Amino acid sequence: MPNVGITGSPNVLISNSEYDTYLKCQRLHYYQYALGLYPRTLSRANHIGLLGHHVLEHYYRAMMNGAGRDDAFQAGMDQIILSYDHEDIDIVRVVSNRFMLYHERYQKDSFRVMGVEGVFSVPLDNGTTYPLTVDLLVEYTSGPWAGQYVAIDHKFRYDFFTPDELSMHIQTYKYIWALRKLGYPIKRSILNQLRYRDGVKDPDKLLKREILEPTETQLESIMSEHMAVSSEIETAKQQPVSWYGKHAHRRLNMRDCGHCYFRIPCRQELLGKDASATLANNYAPEDPSTFYRPYGY
Ligand code: SF4
Repeated sequence: MPNVGITGSPNVLISNSEYDTYLKCQRLHYYQYALGLYPRTLSRANHIGLLGHHVLEHYYRAMMNGAGRDDAFQAGMDQIILSYDHEDIDIVRVVSNRFMLYHERYQKDSFRVMGVEGVFSVPLDNGTTYPLTVDLLVEYTSGPWAGQYVAIDHKFRYDFFTPDELSMHIQTYKYIWALRKLGYPIKRSILNQLRYRDGVKDPDKLLKREILEPTETQLESIMSEHMAVSSEIETAKQQPVSWYGKHAHRRLNMRDCGHCYFRIPCRQELLGKDASATLANNYAPEDPSTFYRPYGY
């Protein structure tokens, strides 16, 4: 059995999410990773993704602990029932519907659940550490992939990824690279897409699994870029937060800024105004005591 769990390291941890945020916008990186702030109000898409991940976590955790598929389904449904206490009815309706379709569609999966929301880390040559949380790690028990591991990442999406988007989706490629370093026999990942768009009647258009199988060259290029960028992030993190607040550049791009949770304080500060009241009222440090665990490294 390969090593499972965090391999202790004093190095700076830089996940794919942090890498992605830093490349998207240094100012956004400053708000999220230097100030450690998250918006108090999440979008509908975020709520669906969080509840959906939570239900699938309980579903597969039950299977990993020996439950049959029907009992595992009940474990997922139990979480949906509990969610009525704290989620909008519309969110519960969508997640419940997709979960029932999902359970029906994938009855014949021929894999054994080896890990659910498993946390791993790999120290890198540049002195940083790459941490990852894998939604689902399975070992196939029959068919052409028998004996091989696959990392499965759940994605709650309005629309499925396009081929072009898939070709640039590097998150699970990093998982494959890291899991191989830890000794797992793994060549591929699956993006497990559940579409939440309303009005789609055909179940075939609501669920889709996309297999991703990177080449060695892709993996080495992706991790070499991860190391270059994580070195830059580490340098920024070694500075005082106040310094980074003055030097974290803004992207100021219509497409990215239009969807950015921090656009109001960002704009206030751009105009030379004090954004501290906005930051204190509308944002909070991520709270580990909330109902859901954080998903999405
Ligand atoms: S609004 Fe734009 S520039 Fe400001 S933090 Fe967000 S992405 Fe960056």
